[in-house]
Amino acid sequence: MLVQSSLSEVLKAREELYSRTNWTDHTSQLQNRVKGEDLSLYFVLTESEIIGIKETIRLHVSTTPYYLSLSSPDDPNCPIRKMIVPRSEEAVLSSEESSDPLDEERLSPVRGLTHMYPNRVLLFSNHSCSVYCRHCMRGRKVSSNEERMEKGDLEKAFEYIRNHPEIEDVVISGGDPLNLADARIEWILSELNSIPHVKICRLGTRNPVTLPFRITEALCKIIETYNNDKLSIFCNTQFNHPKECTKESKEAILRLLKAGVSVGNQSVLLKDINDDEETMLSLHKKLLEMRVRAYYLYDPELIPGSRGFRTPLARGIEIVEYMRGKIGGMGIPQFVNDLPGGGGKITIAPNWYLGYIPKTRQHVFRSAVTKKIHLSFEPVDSTKESYYPVLSEADLEKLGL
Ligand code: SF4
Repeated sequence: MLVQSSLSEVLKAREELYSRTNWTDHTSQLQNRVKGEDLSLYFVLTESEIIGIKETIRLHVSTTPYYLSLSSPDDPNCPIRKMIVPRSEEAVLSSEESSDPLDEERLSPVRGLTHMYPNRVLLFSNHSCSVYCRHCMRGRKVSSNEERMEKGDLEKAFEYIRNHPEIEDVVISGGDPLNLADARIEWILSELNSIPHVKICRLGTRNPVTLPFRITEALCKIIETYNNDKLSIFCNTQFNHPKECTKESKEAILRLLKAGVSVGNQSVLLKDINDDEETMLSLHKKLLEMRVRAYYLYDPELIPGSRGFRTPLARGIEIVEYMRGKIGGMGIPQFVNDLPGGGGKITIAPNWYLGYIPKTRQHVFRSAVTKKIHLSFEPVDSTKESYYPVLSEADLEKLGL
């Protein structure tokens, strides 16, 4: 039941929750998750949050005590809180939104499998996660019991992969695959390992962020066993804010690295959470300190109730432009848009290449660092000159060339 708690009541409730949770035991963290209207015991809620909790059209509401402890009990502007607590915008379906903007269902040959790119597939391994992120793009499936993947469903998915020798790379996502029991994870990895043409397996998991204790030595041992000459296992996680880069998270990442798993980060650009240059720079600096390489920065999908998270497309471009020169390249994510309607991902970069001057065979660039114009030459024997956009006399005059 939803209650209106005062700050002192909220602080007391949090203290009790933390003390009854066996903090570093992931099963205890999951057993003590805070769900639905019970959030009102642990936050002094705003009107907007009360509407959001009651009327959300998105996925279930749930957080681990660990992730809750990173959030502010009384500041509605806290970035972690905004990823845990629904707001009133989540109750509104806008006309441009769709529950399956990427057309994953149309591209699904068997239950739980999306086959969009010829040599890779996305396997939806399970519907549950440690925390249900309010911005989750797969909210139509995640947290819904109807989307539970039974062993038989996974067997059919493996059969499909087995029968398609062009598939080399399997992305396992959900839900969160690391919310499955160790035995199920081991079985999935052994099945993939037994398919001769599957060479790469990518685990998409937010557990290093929301429940780092789930990355146990036992789990890493299993992963290490199947991370072998035949199969290369990668992990893509999703840190969105520097506050998430804790000592516990770093320890979890180091355990994965010790198992030989390379860890990359896929942030989502989220309005009033991380859509400013300094937050994003600080996040990626901290990630590098944790030995996590930047991979993607996603423009949020047009999912139902997502208007509270979306930013103008220009924000992502400006942020990536700002980061260039202030952090090593491996700390700069590619800004990507997963095109609505199943068009796949595209990267959107700042416009540093301005064009070509055929007369002098020169390319014109704008430096990300000096902001000045720099020139470079095309090889004399190039046959690719028609490839480049030609700068007109007027363009050159504007550029002072
Ligand atoms: S952990 Fe991933 S799949 Fe689960 S709710 Fe968060 S974003 Fe969605």
